[in-house]
This record gives sequence, structure tokens and C-alpha cells, in this order.
Amino acid sequence: MAIEPAGISVHLDRPVPRTALAIGAHPDDVEFGSGATLAKWAAAGCAVSHLVCTDGSKGSWDPSEDVAELIATRQVEQRAAARALGATGTCTFLGEVDGELEAGLEQRERVARVIREVQPEVLLAHDPWKRWRLHPDHRAAGFLALDALVAARDPHYYPAQGLAPHRPTTVLLWEADEVDHVEDVTGWTDRKVAALLEHRSQFRSTHDIDDPEDVDQVARFTRRVEDRLAEVGRAAGVSAGEGFKRIDRT
Ligand SMILES: [Zn+2]
Repeated sequence: MAIEPAGISVHLDRPVPRTALAIGAHPDDVEFGSGATLAKWAAAGCAVSHLVCTDGSKGSWDPSEDVAELIATRQVEQRAAARALGATGTCTFLGEVDGELEAGLEQRERVARVIREVQPEVLLAHDPWKRWRLHPDHRAAGFLALDALVAARDPHYYPAQGLAPHRPTTVLLWEADEVDHVEDVTGWTDRKVAALLEHRSQFRSTHDIDDPEDVDQVARFTRRVEDRLAEVGRAAGVSAGEGFKRIDRT
């Protein structure tokens, strides 16, 4: 279905895929970018998998924070967030240093391996072409995901992996510079919020929650997420939406 708000053609919904792999730079990026969509698909039988590129070790404003502990905490939180979405696939941590992610050849081989193992019908990732974005990891994670997709689909890349090549049917890029696809996530906002609230170590730095016990602060964060989904949804004529750049010719 295509509708045209403000002259831009936006497609609404694609069929629920059998498998989906979401590749994020940091623990929590997948939930912010596509959490409601993944929850909707998981409930409809899609096997949802996560791949997190960095260790999340910069995700604290406290200079005295124990970094090794933070890395371990963020993995636990990411697994809990995936469960909150209903994800039944794998949750892989590439373990690159937060803030120093590169879309290099070594990283490409490792991400291509995960794509070949998971065999996603839909690959979700950061839009690396998003203008004016400052965080280098988000750019690098987007390029890394797409570079790895190209490698994963071609049998002459990494034959030593012993894995069959795999070509996803569709790529959906979140934080998209030009949104041309919206998933209707009406009714799935709560799951996205619940998953985001599993990332408790990020409450101060990302969620703007100083005190997790303060219901007003949690409610304010929840409203922020709901307002964003409502705004995106409006552009596609639905109550709540997540927006993407969609690529079908992978
Ligand atoms: Zn991030």
C-alpha cells in the first residue's frame, strides 16, 4: 500500500518476515530504532535476532565507573531487552570498543558470518547516510551492516567460513535520512518502552531518567517514545509508526 503525505511516497507495512536480524552500534540502538516493529513481528512468529557491534563501554557519565562491569551489565540488559520484545533468535556481541567502531575488513567478515548463520529475510540497521549525525559508531555500524550484506550474499567471500551465502530480501534502515517505509506499530508501543526500560544503565545518559523509582521521570520518557511513534505514524496515516528507508534490491 502506498500513500503520499506531503508528496513523499511512503509504503506502509511489509509482510511479516520469517527471520529478522537487527544490527545496532550499541546495546539499546536496536530497541530505539525498531523495537516496536520487532515486537510486532516476533508476536507473529518471526525469529528476531540481535547483533550489537560495540561493547557499550562509553555508556556512562560516571568517570569512576568500572568499565568491565559496565560491559557485562550492558550485555545482560541487551538480552533482557530482546526478551522483552519477544525475540527468540540469537543475541550476538561483536565486542568492538565503544566509540571506536570501524567498518573494516576484519569486522565485515565477522558480521557476514552472523548474516550467513542467521539467514535473515529482513536486515535492519542504522542508516549510514543520515545527515548531520555526530556519533561515529552509528555511521560505522550502518556501513558495516551493508558492506557485510554484500559479502554474505556472494559465494566468493570467505569460503573458509563453510557457510552458504545468504541474501536478505529487504533492508530497513532506521533513523533514516529519507523515510519511505513505515511499519504500523499501533498497540506495540508498550513493548518498545518495556524493552528500552531494560537498559537501566542508560537511564541517566540516554533516557533522561535520574531516578528509576521516580514514576514521573519514567512516564516522561515513555511519553517521549510514544510521541515520536505518533509523529512518524501520522505521516503514514496510522496511530503509531516506526519509519525506515527500505531497500528491496539487495
Ligand atoms: Zn547508539
